[in-house]
Amino acid sequence: MIVRPEILPPTAAAIARAADLLRAGDLVAFPTETVYGLGADASNQDAVESVFAAKGRPEFNPLIVHVADLEMAERVAVFDDRARTLGHGLWAGPFTVVLPRRPDAPISPMVSAGLDTVAVRVPGHQVAHSLLKALDRPIAAPSANRSGGVSPTTPMHVAKDLGERVAMILAGGRCQVGLESTILDMTCDPPRLLRPGRVGRREIEGLIGPIAAPESEGQAVPLTPNAPGQLASHYAPRLPVRLNAVTVGPTEALLAFGPDRSIRGGATRLNLSPEGDLHEAASNLYAMIHRLDDPAYTAIAVMPIPERSIGFAINDRLRRAAAPRSNSPAIEC
Ligand code: AMP
Ligand code: MG
Repeated sequence: MIVRPEILPPTAAAIARAADLLRAGDLVAFPTETVYGLGADASNQDAVESVFAAKGRPEFNPLIVHVADLEMAERVAVFDDRARTLGHGLWAGPFTVVLPRRPDAPISPMVSAGLDTVAVRVPGHQVAHSLLKALDRPIAAPSANRSGGVSPTTPMHVAKDLGERVAMILAGGRCQVGLESTILDMTCDPPRLLRPGRVGRREIEGLIGPIAAPESEGQAVPLTPNAPGQLASHYAPRLPVRLNAVTVGPTEALLAFGPDRSIRGGATRLNLSPEGDLHEAASNLYAMIHRLDDPAYTAIAVMPIPERSIGFAINDRLRRAAAPRSNSPAIEC
């Protein structure tokens, strides 16, 4: 008897089996350099439907299509010169581009929520790349967590959150970047930053010139109908999150950053990066929030994170984790 999910190290045999499962319409969770993805064969309508069902994700919230290379990307979306420049410069890597969808794209219309645009990315993780090569088709993959919750950066996070909903988890260790990809919408002029990430505004502008982005990249991106993932409350643990903490209550868990030890007390504490390294902090963020999200505490208090480099993206996620939550189902996943 096969126990679901199979959790396997990403050997060549396991990757071949994962590709077979995807081809048969099953869901496979796999590592990328950003977070773990919940993968489905993007051309299979039923498989794509089961991604939305497994996550509890509203069907109007489009998925990112993962491809092996620029050539496969061009089978899905219409690239102009600037988009190609970004592809050459930033792929494989934690960068997603929204482009017009090709009418003959080999993907179910549901992947892009019926829009005539599509989000594509070439992931930089070797396991993701090998899986895409083995399947030789685009993979639709949101983060492998329930809608609105904290993204998974380890195989165990996936197993805990989605357990029996996936046929297999390719266990490729911890995700190195630890935050979701930067998303740039190239269907408007100038192109617009929809979600900050490891690839920063300057890096993009160095390749294609000015883009539209909020004053601070980390500030909430304006909410528009074609950016359904950008709603305020998202990435949220069960416990309330309190930002810019300079003190900590006796029953709160402290998420610290940097060498400053002046905050005393708290029920427990973890440090995102004792050295004050923002990339290390990004890589640790979700894993530490998962660990502190324990009913033994009353809230997670987070020390201030500098607004520079990947700190913009960390603060973007933290603001959404701390945003007031409505009773309606979370919109982004
Ligand atoms: P996730 O799958 O959780 O990484 O979220 C993917 C996000 O990509 C969505 O929630 C949207 O914000 C964005 N996205 C995907 N496709 C499109 C699209 N066609 N147009 C605009 N944004 C998109
Ligand atoms: Mg997500």
